Amino acid sequence: MTYVIAGSCIKDDVCIEVCPVDCIHPKPGDPDFETAEQLYIDPEICIDCDACVEVCPVDAIFADHETPSKYDYALDLNAQFFAERAASP
Ligand code: SF4
Ligand code: SF4
Repeated sequence: MTYVIAGSCIKDDVCIEVCPVDCIHPKPGDPDFETAEQLYIDPEICIDCDACVEVCPVDAIFADHETPSKYDYALDLNAQFFAERAASP
């Protein structure tokens, strides 16, 4: 399982602050932070602790199996972000 950021992320970073395994990116200061449309959760590292869901002010984070169907694309989008990061030099 993983958690996924979908929809209305406003990049306020509060989920990054609480994630115990540091799997939400990009972070402020990263080269791709300013251009990112939203933040993303690394599905390989997320431990499903629910901490980020509790703090998100816009309810943009879901457990993968609870993601509304209109956000089905978001799981791929989150995984793709990390695949592209791994592939870049
Ligand atoms: S569920 Fe927990 S481990 Fe997964 S992204 Fe949220 S805070 Fe991090
Ligand atoms: S807490 Fe919610 S709105 Fe804020 S950066 Fe994380 S996912 Fe985006």
